[in-house]
Amino acid sequence: MDSYDVLIIGGGGAGFTAAIYTSRAKLKTLLLEKLTPGGQIALTDVVENYPGFPEGVTGADISQRMEEQAKKYGTQIGYEEVTSIAKKGERFEAATNKGSHSAKAVILAAGASFRTLGVPREKELTGRGVSYCATCDGAFFKGKNIIVIGGGDSALQEGLFLTRFVNHLDVVHRRDQLRASPILQERARENSKIGFIWDTVVTAIEGDQKVKGVRLKNVKTGKERPYPTDGVFVFIGHDPSTGFLKNFVAFDDKGYVKTDERLRTSVLGVFAAGEVRSGAVKQLVSACGEGCEAALEAQAYLEQLELAAHTKGGGG
Ligand SMILES: Cc1cc2nc3c(=O)[nH]c(=O)nc-3n(C[C@H](O)[C@H](O)[C@H](O)COP(=O)(O)OP(=O)(O)OC[C@H]3O[C@@H](n4cnc5c(N)ncnc54)[C@H](O)[C@@H]3O)c2cc1C
Repeated sequence: MDSYDVLIIGGGGAGFTAAIYTSRAKLKTLLLEKLTPGGQIALTDVVENYPGFPEGVTGADISQRMEEQAKKYGTQIGYEEVTSIAKKGERFEAATNKGSHSAKAVILAAGASFRTLGVPREKELTGRGVSYCATCDGAFFKGKNIIVIGGGDSALQEGLFLTRFVNHLDVVHRRDQLRASPILQERARENSKIGFIWDTVVTAIEGDQKVKGVRLKNVKTGKERPYPTDGVFVFIGHDPSTGFLKNFVAFDDKGYVKTDERLRTSVLGVFAAGEVRSGAVKQLVSACGEGCEAALEAQAYLEQLELAAHTKGGGG
């Protein structure tokens, strides 16, 4: 089994930033990514709120550059899915779909994934009118008519934010009342740009190169109808990618990894950064910031280990 100073699980903004820092600190670093480099940001067309790119940067470009930068400083990258992780003696061992790896410290950066509707054309039109992030994509919908799907806090909060840009938006909700907190409900009801379509689900999204409309189905009557719209914002929840961490670290009640303010998890030597972490802000720049912080904490932890081993060995 190969052996590293630091194992980073996840190749999104948090993981690659952590890798750049640990590799530049001359720590032998392995980053494991189950899909392609970049994580969620790779799914988006243009990123306009990442500093240093006044003209914006594509998600694909930033993903490829992050990978290049980590490789340049010596990060080893394995395209493997981690299936479990455990502490064996002084080291951590991660099992993957291709083998196993061992490391002295671990940074969990496995992110999260937003829930999708699972309807026809949703995948093809993501980034072309279908969005899961108002902060990221709201400004592309100036003066447009859109729909927001969901009935919880995030649907209303993001919907209220989107009213800064759009002409009108309809909140499409499968029930006849919202789950969101009363204050958000009040604000949304008082906002003249917001309408509500109750007891309704989206059964398909329509459009070739960009969204032209959706098909709406009333769940009480079963009746379906076409509905023209320029954009579809989906806020029906996020799930952390933590299945492989069962019985390893502590989670919050939604399944995100708990850390202290220094990004230390419940297991000594294991850190968490980015969207996998409880309380994280769901933006690329903050995921990168946390990746940096976790890397510096891992570095300090390894220095302590070294010092302790040295002292134990009588080296003073
Ligand atoms: C469509 C869209 C548009 C967005 N636009 C913007 C924007 O304009 N600006 C902005 O700031 N933010 C934007 N975001 C949010 C931003 O992408 C995320 O906040 C950021 O990517 C989180 O980074 P992360 O590293 O924490 O996690 P992620 O990006 O989720 O990366 C985690 C990685 O870990 C991998 N992984 C998971 N489990 C395993 C495993 N078991 N083994 C190995 N690998 C694993 C995943 O495949 C993934 O690549 C957008 C998000 C989406 C979905």
